[in-house]
Parts: sequence; structure tokens; C-alpha cells
Amino acid sequence: MNTEFYLSEIAKERIRQDEKFGEQNHHPLVWFSIIGEEFGEMCKAYNDYTLKDDDSNSWDAMQQEAVQTAACCVAMLECLDRMAEKGLGPETGR
Ligand SMILES: [Mg+2]
Repeated sequence: MNTEFYLSEIAKERIRQDEKFGEQNHHPLVWFSIIGEEFGEMCKAYNDYTLKDDDSNSWDAMQQEAVQTAACCVAMLECLDRMAEKGLGPETGR
């Protein structure tokens, strides 16, 4: 796999997120919590891969969670752009 492949996967995940949740506008601290959850899921998949003998799907799960984490970071960047367009800073973006 290469950069273009993973950027495409992240773009597909962004579309999936918008279809599932709609446009997401959150304070940056909420985004950190959302991204932290996805990062935690990526870590769990790695732990499952290394600690469980019977979980051969965990490597794929780790890659999927990495894409989801990256897509959430992109979603946060899009949100920050929307806030900036409205003249809002983090202190008012709730
Ligand atoms: Mg996830």
C-alpha cells in the first residue's frame, strides 16, 4: 500500500462519518476526546494482536482504527476551518 491508497481510505472514512453523523461541529477539547477514543481503539487492536493467540483479525483492525483516527483528525480540521470562517475561536466553539 502507498500514500495515495491510505489517503483514499481516509477520504472514504470521512464520507462514511458524514453519512452516519452529519456535519460535526465540536469544541477542540471534544475533538480531542473523540480522537482519543479512536486512538485507544487502535491501541486495543494492537494489544489484541500481541497478547491474544486467537485474534488474527487484530492487525487489520489496527489499520482500520488508524484510518478512523486520521479521518477524525481531518474532520476536526474541517470543523476548525468552519469556526474560523465564522470568526469563532476555541473559547466560543461549543
Ligand atoms: Mg474506531
